[in-house]
Amino acid sequence: MNGMLKFGATAAIGAACLLLTACGSLVDMGKNKTVAPRRIFLNDVAANDSLPSTMLDNGLVFVMQPGENYRLRLKTTALTDSIVFYARNSSGDFTPVRNIGGVAAGGNIRSFTLTPTKTSAEYYLAFLRAANGGTASLPDSVRLVAADTTSAPSVKVRLLMVRGLYGLSNNTAKAAFARAFHTELRSIYAAYGITVDTSTVIVDTTGKALTLVFNGDFVSLPGERKSDGINMYLVDSIRSEGAAGMVVGYAPREAFDLALNPESRLVLNVRGGTAAQMAVTAAHEMGHFIGLRHTSATETDRSFDDDESNRDDGFSSTPYCSILTKRAVHEEVFQAPRGRAYCLRVTGTAATCGCSDVTNLMYPYACNQAGQKTLGADQQKFVRNNLRVLQ
Ligand SMILES: [Zn+2]
Repeated sequence: MNGMLKFGATAAIGAACLLLTACGSLVDMGKNKTVAPRRIFLNDVAANDSLPSTMLDNGLVFVMQPGENYRLRLKTTALTDSIVFYARNSSGDFTPVRNIGGVAAGGNIRSFTLTPTKTSAEYYLAFLRAANGGTASLPDSVRLVAADTTSAPSVKVRLLMVRGLYGLSNNTAKAAFARAFHTELRSIYAAYGITVDTSTVIVDTTGKALTLVFNGDFVSLPGERKSDGINMYLVDSIRSEGAAGMVVGYAPREAFDLALNPESRLVLNVRGGTAAQMAVTAAHEMGHFIGLRHTSATETDRSFDDDESNRDDGFSSTPYCSILTKRAVHEEVFQAPRGRAYCLRVTGTAATCGCSDVTNLMYPYACNQAGQKTLGADQQKFVRNNLRVLQ
């Protein structure tokens, strides 16, 4: 592993650009071969059967926040295999930083501690290698966790109401919407021990109403962002070709950082429901933003992972619902600007709202939104830890 690895032709895009379709695959410049690493997500407990072998062959890519120690926890009986840890240099190329040995962590778990080399959020890459530099033993599983498992009790959220909005003809109506929205959003997360500190900005009141087309291109939106919180943009409508239902909102599958990167945002459709209903969608998208999966993976979720083992999120509180695999007619659109995974939340149908876990906040479809606020204890713990890591 002497070679330098980089994001293909789009390396200059930097942090916003990730592997897979839109960005091309990583190129091992030393060996002149294309490799295809996979993403591993913080505290993810889905099966992820494809990750152990990829860790030997092509590497795992993950985001680390500054000032935070992480651990790769491998279930393996191999005691001498080590992690080759790559960071990105100023050109955006992955270059090897160091070899990291593991320590026993009980129950055939070897734990490898990773420390970020950058002062801002960044992608890193890791391979597993044998002590002699050869092929390592195949682990049974691999997880990425934060070394510090404590929780964050709060998060800041800003609602940016962009230009003309359907049904909200003046600033008084917009302010009333914002109050109701924030009240519901605070209530949902308060039930899970998280205080949401809310603020609102009404942006460009005389501007033409904005229809955002979700087609893989990043569109910047106006308004003063909250520099240390989650920014939510409310627009007049969202359009996406091929969507089976109305797109009520979308967000990245995982935030790169909480606030600094322009793509760190939620986008909401004012036509998606009442203020209180839209707060439920916002709470759902916040869940993704913080790293939660859908309770049951849709076909497109699994397609993005390219891992059929991830049919459920791995939490014991959210059993898998099989009917979501047999609904080609109702397939939601799930695109990935610059290769990033997004959740595009659409209104459900009788066929897609029939699972027992339809009341969970992370159910894939907007069904009876007022009744879709539940998080299991395991999901709550995940959210509180990831929130602390992100801020
Ligand atoms: Zn979703």
